[in-house]
Amino acid sequence: MADRNYSSTLTDPDEPPEDTAAFEDKTIRCIGCSDDFVWSAGEQLFYAQKDLLNPPKRCKPCKQAKTRRLADIAIAHATGKKQRVDVRTQCANCSKSTTVPFFPSQGRPVYCRECYLVIKNGHANGANA
Ligand SMILES: [Zn+2]
Ligand SMILES: [Zn+2]
Repeated sequence: MADRNYSSTLTDPDEPPEDTAAFEDKTIRCIGCSDDFVWSAGEQLFYAQKDLLNPPKRCKPCKQAKTRRLADIAIAHATGKKQRVDVRTQCANCSKSTTVPFFPSQGRPVYCRECYLVIKNGHANGANA
């Protein structure tokens, strides 16, 4: 193991870390869009301070989309109106980045507009020669 050359400020092990030096940026794969995103040291410190044990599962855009969707649902409940959402995701068929007007469930394939129409119309397997 290589010695780290930190200027050795001795920290009381009973005390939670005060700064982000104890954390390193981590890369996490988003369960929403399957893109890698950086869980920054600052955010890890925030999680530690909040006693949150589980790292985030979604990147910021997906998290915001989810938060917005939940807010939209709350508004929809309150007003009886449906709000439009746009969630960025990846087409399960052609891998194109697309937006869908709903929040996709994990494990459910989501298609871009073109692929969705093709699949809906039952031409998915019948390539026209
Ligand atoms: Zn994402
Ligand atoms: Zn597609």
